Amino acid sequence: MLPTGRRVSAAMLLLREMVHFFALMLWVAAGLAVLAGMPQLALAIVVVVVLNGAFAFVQEYRADKAGQRLRELIPAEVRVVRDGRRMMVHAADLVVGDIVLLEAGDRISADLGLVEVHALAVNESMLTGESVPTRPHEGTAVFAGTFVVEGEAVAVVAATGPRTRLAGVAALTRSATRPPSPLARQLGRVVKVVAVIAVGVGAMFFTLALMLGMAPSAGFLFALGVTVALVPEGLLPTVTLSLARAAQRMAARKALVRRLEAVETLGSTTFICADKTGTLTRNEMTVVQVWTPAGVLDLARPVSAAEIMRSAVLSSTGRLVYTNGRWKPVGDPMEVALHALALRAGSSEDAAVTRRFPFDSARRRASAIADGVLHVKGAPDSVLPLCTATGEAEQALEDMSRHGLRVLAVARRTAPAGATMAEAERDLTLLGLVGLEDPPREDVAEAIERCRLAGIKLAMITGDHPGTARAIAEKVGLLGPEGTVVIGAELPGTDDALGALVDRDGVVIARVTPEDKLRIARALRGRGHVVAMTGDGVNDGPALREADIGVAMGASGTDVAREAADLVLLDDHFGTIVTAVELGRATYANIRRFLTYHLTDNVAELTPFAVWALSGGTIPLALTVLQVLALDIGTDLLPALALGAEPPNPQTMHGPARAGSLVDRRLVHRVFGILGPAEAVMEMAGFGAVLALGGWVFGAEPSPELLAAASGTAFAAVVLGQLANAFACRSETSWVGRLRWAGNPLLLWAVAIEIVILLVFLGIPPLTGLLGGSFPPPAGWALAALAVPAVVAADTLHKAIQARSSPR
Ligand code: ADP
Ligand code: MG
Repeated sequence: MLPTGRRVSAAMLLLREMVHFFALMLWVAAGLAVLAGMPQLALAIVVVVVLNGAFAFVQEYRADKAGQRLRELIPAEVRVVRDGRRMMVHAADLVVGDIVLLEAGDRISADLGLVEVHALAVNESMLTGESVPTRPHEGTAVFAGTFVVEGEAVAVVAATGPRTRLAGVAALTRSATRPPSPLARQLGRVVKVVAVIAVGVGAMFFTLALMLGMAPSAGFLFALGVTVALVPEGLLPTVTLSLARAAQRMAARKALVRRLEAVETLGSTTFICADKTGTLTRNEMTVVQVWTPAGVLDLARPVSAAEIMRSAVLSSTGRLVYTNGRWKPVGDPMEVALHALALRAGSSEDAAVTRRFPFDSARRRASAIADGVLHVKGAPDSVLPLCTATGEAEQALEDMSRHGLRVLAVARRTAPAGATMAEAERDLTLLGLVGLEDPPREDVAEAIERCRLAGIKLAMITGDHPGTARAIAEKVGLLGPEGTVVIGAELPGTDDALGALVDRDGVVIARVTPEDKLRIARALRGRGHVVAMTGDGVNDGPALREADIGVAMGASGTDVAREAADLVLLDDHFGTIVTAVELGRATYANIRRFLTYHLTDNVAELTPFAVWALSGGTIPLALTVLQVLALDIGTDLLPALALGAEPPNPQTMHGPARAGSLVDRRLVHRVFGILGPAEAVMEMAGFGAVLALGGWVFGAEPSPELLAAASGTAFAAVVLGQLANAFACRSETSWVGRLRWAGNPLLLWAVAIEIVILLVFLGIPPLTGLLGGSFPPPAGWALAALAVPAVVAADTLHKAIQARSSPR
């Protein structure tokens, strides 16, 4: 296999996790702690940085590995001729000397010498950076990693794998780093803003502490606590891992994302533009009707179709091939269907094709010159105008397309071998029309219903005839009451008008060109839609890139389209897009879940420092800095991970996607207005009560033992509050009691371990001494336990009020 780009050593990755922005901040803090004469604290901070870095490293590493596995799933099949037979082999199995058949849209997977060339154009930008395609001649070479954008060719493998020119180039560019994804940047910004605020607040509190007459070292410790409490260290790696996990889940359901952030974008999709052929239909074609100027043929006597099918096959490259006792399709399913009928009809195939003018989606026809005759087949609206006489063809065409048949016109004329395309493709003699059936996929109608329920609009965008498109759209229930059928040539000229026309549910746009697709994607995005668009052709690249989610086919379709896509459907199925959207939404919800969970903890961590400062130092600190660290990277970690793995709930596809950023007003309100305060109140209540029970009065200095017991209580209250919070975060709308306990078994494990960690932190002497809290008295435990009902009650009340004010 070819090297697939940059590989950084694991040691480098690990090192990187130790020296990023936060890590550096903590290193500085550790240094300062040493200078301030607090080696214990310094050591603890170092432990935090290393643990945290190792954790992040493991997550990034796993995400990276997952991405690599996904890339290997992208199909890479090559058409070859071995022992005189056509067959498909995996790109990795090519050997020097293999004869390869190239077609528009293919990725070239070895260095090849060209033997036979038909209007070939190759995009070499991958190797040379040059985006204008080259037109290589017979006898010259084409290289692995480039793409056929036009024409066809026969070539012989000259070099494979590490001996190709691409491998050399890849070795040179391997050190180039990948740019960070938009989601990573967005999160990075959130985290940095929080960090800057944290440092600012820390400095402010430090000044305040000095003004209150505190020793500089104590003041520093204090400022450090505030800073550490505010910095969400574990966030980025947790997000990355939950995206990677989602990508794996999607792959298991046949949806392959090519970039991790596409997982999140998929979740906010509001408009899907789907192809007809292969996506909504099965792409299993059969010729069911043949019309000639002499009338409709009886296909029970296929021999009558021999003449027309001969021309249809000579202008095609797709074949039904007999190997190992079985008939196998090689090439375009429609062309294979034509070949199947030609075989039954006994059409002779003895003519030698000397020149091909291949299919492209703008011309919508393909032709070939064989023994002085040009054979043409293509969309009727493309071929009929070139014919000298068409007779009743229009009527026959209307009849066939009304029944949802895909119709091809077949024609021919004499033409010298050296004729150009324009010289040859005119004054044709019409041989007839061929009607092919391609039934809708059985569960497409249900997938379309799921989209409607989820508030996602749909359009069918096809190169096919409007009559055929309408018939299929009606059959699968895509053409809604406000739907309409338009053709590409009639689309409005301005993007505004185009957007207004297409932005409704159930539009069918037929006879589109790749440029129309690009404009449709742009117009819809201009109206604020998040657009997913499918494409399979060699010219669909720009439209796929313009869409927020470009979708390509894994089974059919071209390598070029797959290269430009964000999502590859391994089964070509429309329903798989909908499944991917659902998983994307679920993942987005999960990221919000653990964000809510993490940030709530931050409120509880910050409160003791705020109370201490606001009371002018009269109320002692409820948590030590090390307890804050123990919360952040000890007890919080597993429940946050488990929340990231929450399975999709049935509500996921009810109602429209929630647009906007992850950290919106709703989330901020819930964290800082409801959950955070509930937890913090219980924390301070437990702390105060244990102090008061121990005889402490306001303004006095508590004994170290009493303070440790109270501090232990506060710590326990926060951990137990977070336990309840974890369950509250499972839903943004339903109260805890309505959620299925077994719905997320990981979370049950996580909270069980969380409780064990809590007992270890509070009950094992050296640890307890280091952290600064001690095992709470029974009354302390009782108070701390009250944090559970308190958080649940606050959450439930909030959800009830929300449900009342904004009924879904
Ligand atoms: P779709 O959206 O249905 O995939 P395409 O752009 O692939 O549409 O094809 C558009 C039209 O071009 C088809 O309806 C058919 O008439 C014609 N066509 C498709 N494939 C071929 C081919 N291999 N040779 C000739 N004509 C073709
Ligand atoms: Mg097609």
